Amino acid sequence: MIISMRKHASKEEIDHVCERIREFGFKVHSIVGDERVVIGAVGVGDVTPCLEMLEAAPGVESAVRISAPYKFVSREFQAERTRIRVNGAEVGGDDFIVMAGPCSVESEKQIMETAEAVAAVGAKILRGGAFKPRTSPYEFQGLELEGLKLLAKARAATGLSVVTEVLSEKDVEMVAEYANIMQVGARNMQNYALLKSLGKCQRPVLLKRGMSSTLKELLMSAEYLVAHGNPSIILCERGIRTFETATRNTCDITAVSVLNELTHLPVILDPSHATGKRSLVPALARAGVAIGADGLIVEVHPNPEKAYSDGAQSLTLDMFRALMRDLKPYMRLWKESRVAAAAAV
Ligand code: PEP
Ligand code: MN
Repeated sequence: MIISMRKHASKEEIDHVCERIREFGFKVHSIVGDERVVIGAVGVGDVTPCLEMLEAAPGVESAVRISAPYKFVSREFQAERTRIRVNGAEVGGDDFIVMAGPCSVESEKQIMETAEAVAAVGAKILRGGAFKPRTSPYEFQGLELEGLKLLAKARAATGLSVVTEVLSEKDVEMVAEYANIMQVGARNMQNYALLKSLGKCQRPVLLKRGMSSTLKELLMSAEYLVAHGNPSIILCERGIRTFETATRNTCDITAVSVLNELTHLPVILDPSHATGKRSLVPALARAGVAIGADGLIVEVHPNPEKAYSDGAQSLTLDMFRALMRDLKPYMRLWKESRVAAAAAV
C-alpha cells in the first residue's frame, strides 16, 4: 500500500499512521518529499482492514493498494510521467533527449572535441566514463578523477550536462561533485550497496538494465533507489544477453513499451551497447524514437579506431551529425504524439 499524507500533516499524524500500519503487520518506508510525506506499507498483513483504517485516519489524503512488488516506481502509484530536470533539459518531458559522447574519457582533446561536436547538433547531455567496468583487468580502467575534471571542463565549455558512471559506493561523493547524472552500469544494476548509497545522493541516476536481468528486476533496483530517498531515476535498455552472436547484445526494444506500461519513470535506449556495431546504431536509434523512448545514449568518438574502449560501436563525429539530421523527422513525430498523448489524459 502507498499512503499519501496531506500537504501539511503534522508529525503526530504521520507517527500515528506509521504506528497503526505496523500494528497490522506491515513494515513502514516513509519518503519525505518537498510537499508531503508518502508512506509505503510493505510486507504481509491484512490489507483490506488496514486500508479502511487508513482512510479514516487524520492527516491521510489517500491510501491505495499497489499489487506490483515495486511500489513507488509503479504506474499504479503515479499515473503521470516523471520528468527529470537536468539544468535546462528535461528527461521524460516534451523533448526527445540525446546523450552522446565517448565510451571512456581519454584526453582533454578527445572529450572537448567530442563535446563541441555533439552539442552543435543538439545533444543535451555529454556521456563519458571516467571509471570503466572492464571485463579484463588488463584493459583501460578509466582516468578516474582526472576524467571527471575533464568532463566538468567540457561542460563549462559547451553547456552540456554530464552523465558518467559510478562503479563503487566509495566513489559516490566524488562522482556527484562532477556529474549531473550518476550512471549505474549494467554490471552494477543489482549492486545493492551502491544503490543504497545513491539513494542518499541528490543527483538523478541513470540505471542501466543488467545484461541478464528481467524488467521486474530492473524495476526492483529502481525501487531500491526510491526507498532509500532518491526518486529521480532514468531507466535504460541497453540490450540483453541471448544465444544470438551477430550482435554484442540483443536489444529488447519492446522493453521500452513494457516499461512505459509498468512505470512512470523515463526510459532511454542505448543503441551502441545493444548492437556493438556502429553500422547498426542509426537504425536502432530510429526504432528508439519510434517506440516512444524518452531519449538515447549514444557512443561517439573523434577517432573510433583508436578508442581505448568500445571503438567498434562508436560513431564518428560525422556519423553522429548524420544521425541527428536523419532523426529530425522522427523526433518531430515523436513530439506530436507526446503532445497528443498529454492532451488526451
Ligand atoms: C557504458 O555505458 O560505457 C557501459 C559500460 O555500459 P553498460 O553498463 O550498459 O555495459
Ligand atoms: Mn561503452
